[in-house]
Amino acid sequence: MPDRRGGPGANVGDWDTGAVSGSALSTPAVASTPFELPDSALAEVGTRPFGIYVHVPFCATRCGYCDFNTYTAGELGTSASPRSWLEAVERELTRAAEITGAPLVDTVFVGGGTPSLLGGEVLARVLGAVKATFGLAGGAEVTTESNPESTSPEFFAALREAGFTRISLGMQSAAEHVLKVLDRTHTPGRAVAAAREARAAGFDHVNLDLIYGTPGETEADLDASLDAVLGAGVDHVSAYALIVEDGTALARKVRRGELPAPDDDVLASRYERIDSRLADAGLHWYEVSNWASNDDARCRHNLGYWDGGHWWGVGPGAHSHVGGVRWWNVKHPARYADRLSAGQLPVDGSEALTEEDIHVERVLLTVRLRSGLPLSDLRDGERAAAERVVDDGLGVVEADHLVLTDRGRLLADAVVRDILA
Ligand code: SF4
Repeated sequence: MPDRRGGPGANVGDWDTGAVSGSALSTPAVASTPFELPDSALAEVGTRPFGIYVHVPFCATRCGYCDFNTYTAGELGTSASPRSWLEAVERELTRAAEITGAPLVDTVFVGGGTPSLLGGEVLARVLGAVKATFGLAGGAEVTTESNPESTSPEFFAALREAGFTRISLGMQSAAEHVLKVLDRTHTPGRAVAAAREARAAGFDHVNLDLIYGTPGETEADLDASLDAVLGAGVDHVSAYALIVEDGTALARKVRRGELPAPDDDVLASRYERIDSRLADAGLHWYEVSNWASNDDARCRHNLGYWDGGHWWGVGPGAHSHVGGVRWWNVKHPARYADRLSAGQLPVDGSEALTEEDIHVERVLLTVRLRSGLPLSDLRDGERAAAERVVDDGLGVVEADHLVLTDRGRLLADAVVRDILA
């Protein structure tokens, strides 16, 4: 088993992350742009926080439950590599800055895939490209996702030095047999050790991701995971119910009867357990699946997604939203790089949101926030539905916002359906 730690100069297995000669930041002139942001959308740039998401489409292995746009070295062969990806990302950032007028960026989020597989030097170069093309606003939040097995003290030190401010680690569980069902390759203790290393390197903001409701997970397993999370001293926790996505290895195992599907009642009781233990430890929910120790610990980048912010998603399959227009990139890293090499934007599709789309999305997302759904956003019939939500004990009204109760959070989807019916 090769060492998957991703510090500078570390062995990252089969991936070629060698330095790119020259810089793609001086990209050739654009030949044609099949996608153009309308002036009406561009006029809104600067009216809201602006984020950059960078998608890293590489993983060492494929976890059985995952349907993200990510590839192993074996799946890509010679068609694409971190080297070609980095050149393409730099090109897309250059085009994005030209098109938008390069507003200062409030938040950067490098996600995947497994960004830590690239190592600290490459991630520093990605952030350097954001700084060179857009520039960072003062106090910008700069996050990278990392998998515990591809991190090290040197890796975190390199990120801190480069200007990253926040680390999000995929822990999922502290129980070995649960990690095995999920096909996670790290040992139970590695995520907590990585969180401590990140904090020792100077990161004040560290998140641990948990997955609950995995087949075979017991209450004691969940408690052990929560003990580990709380012992790591992190200021943010995300916890998501396991979803069996179509087309995954997990879905095939469930279909063949080799594993049971997650049980709704179990998921509800696990959620309540997570919420109560985190709250007792001073981590409070600010979104249905996210807890933070204080306002500064909340993920500002994700808050931008949930509150109608603008962001440009860079990388294969990345989604973007600016001024009521959404678009998404081609998924395959080779096609993505080819499009940018040809001087084109790598956009695969786009849609202009209607007033109705924007309204539905706003209800759907803000009702999940602790800050709540502004009642002023609701139409007459929807206000009546919101009153019924309160009467049913699923919500309360605070400062003209509908805020879900503990029980309401378990039924958030049903609440949304009732309001929008
Ligand atoms: S490491 Fe994350 S992105 Fe990669 S396959 Fe596993 S769950 Fe998916």
